[in-house]
Formats: sequence, C-alpha cells, structure tokens
Amino acid sequence: MKIKNQNYYGLPENAALLTFDDGYVDHYTNVFPILKNRGIQGSFFVSAKPLAENKVLDVNKIHYLLATVDSSVLVDNIFLILNRYRYQGELIESNEELYNKFTGKSRFDTQEVIFIKSLLQYGLDAGLRDLVIQELFHKYIDVSEELLSKEWYLNWEQICCMKSAGMFFGLHGYEHFWLSEVSNGIMEKDIECALDYFDGIIDRSCWVMNYPYGSYNNEVISFIKAQNCKLGLTTEVRVADISNDDLFELPRLDTNDFPPKSKNYKKF
Ligand SMILES: [Zn+2]
Repeated sequence: MKIKNQNYYGLPENAALLTFDDGYVDHYTNVFPILKNRGIQGSFFVSAKPLAENKVLDVNKIHYLLATVDSSVLVDNIFLILNRYRYQGELIESNEELYNKFTGKSRFDTQEVIFIKSLLQYGLDAGLRDLVIQELFHKYIDVSEELLSKEWYLNWEQICCMKSAGMFFGLHGYEHFWLSEVSNGIMEKDIECALDYFDGIIDRSCWVMNYPYGSYNNEVISFIKAQNCKLGLTTEVRVADISNDDLFELPRLDTNDFPPKSKNYKKF
C-alpha cells in the first residue's frame, strides 16, 4: 500500500506499508530475510484455519485445481456434480443460470475461471460448496490436506520468530470467507475465532483487518470497530490517501500491477 499525504500522520515521503496475505511459507523463507536485512517491517495477514486444523484454505484448493486442470474440464465436472445433487433432490439453480450469474468482469481471469472461483468461493451454499470442492480436489489432486497445509503455510514457530524480529501480524479471518456473503453470525464467529487463535500475536486492543478476497460490508466494519480494530485493508487497487480515505476501506496496490507482470502501477 503506497500512501499519499504522508505528512498527515507524520509519515515520511513516499511511505509504503508492505502487506502479505494468506500466510504462505514463502513469507518466511523469502520475504522475511529480505525485510529483516533491510530493516523494513512487513505486515502479515494469516488465516487461522491451516494452522489450527492442518487444513488447506478453499481459495488455495481452487487455485491448485485451476493450476492442474483445464478450466473447461473443471466447469464440465462441476456441472456433472451439480446434476447429481439435483437428481438427489437438492434445490440448485440450473447450470446455465449459475453460469450467467457468476461470470463477469475481472482484471486477470477468463470467464470460466471467474465462474469457477465465484461459484466455489461463495456462490453455492457452504455445505454444497465444500462437497464439490472436496470431490474435485480428491479426483485431481489426491494429496493429503495435512501434508499440503504443512508444506504451504507458515507454522507457529515461524510466526513467533517473525513477530519477535519486529514483523507485524494482522487478521485475515479464520476460514478466509467472503465476509459480505456469509450471515452476520458466521462473520462474527469467524472473526472472534481468528482473534482468539492469534491471541498474543495480534493485540486485541489495537489491530488491523485485512478482508479476505477484499469482501466486507457495513456490518463487518461495525463489528470489527467494536472489537477495537483500527484499520481495514481492501483489494481496491489505488494509492491510499489516509487523510481522506475511510480508514476501514483502505485501498492497496497489488504486486500484479508491477513489472514484470504489468505497468498498471503507473496509472496510480
Ligand atoms: Zn487472502
């Protein structure tokens, strides 16, 4: 996150807050040594579930499937699975209705990829979504989740080591839900569980929220404010202006907006 109007909070010229989402082990092996050597603090936002339960987040299962299987094959498979559940009596919109509902604009993805991500991240009811993801994951990946979670994510010792070396940790939910798409009860429980899990790593009297998938609404903001959250980071892509922006809706630049991938950053 690059910040305009630096003087507002006594920040230096061209101040930047470096944020790292999802708690990948790469943040310990690659990012942390560079930051430490340069005396720079990074802000890390780890979802609790992989650590607490040795599970792989849905977002990563979907990424892995998309990296492994052709997206048109995945769409066909999803339709077949949904047909089977409809046949068993589940009330699910038709495949065509779902496809039309969950495709749309994206800066990076094709229509099929948008459909797969949207449907499996929040489009289907939670129970059905889990069943579909599990079935696809089992069919195409079939590696133990426990093994993958230990390979992909930061562990507790690494987090403690980074924290004691001056790195900052904020909240990125427990399950990595689309918080605007779940009920208020589930949203509140997810945030409370994550705060409980990271007790001692995250200061409950002054903490930062990084909304998974950049998904939030007024209820999320009201709830986290009541829990002593002080800042909310979104996935809106632009330079933050902290003298004018709402502190619970701060935009960020994405590494995808920088070379070698693109020069989008120049627009901001
Ligand atoms: Zn995330």
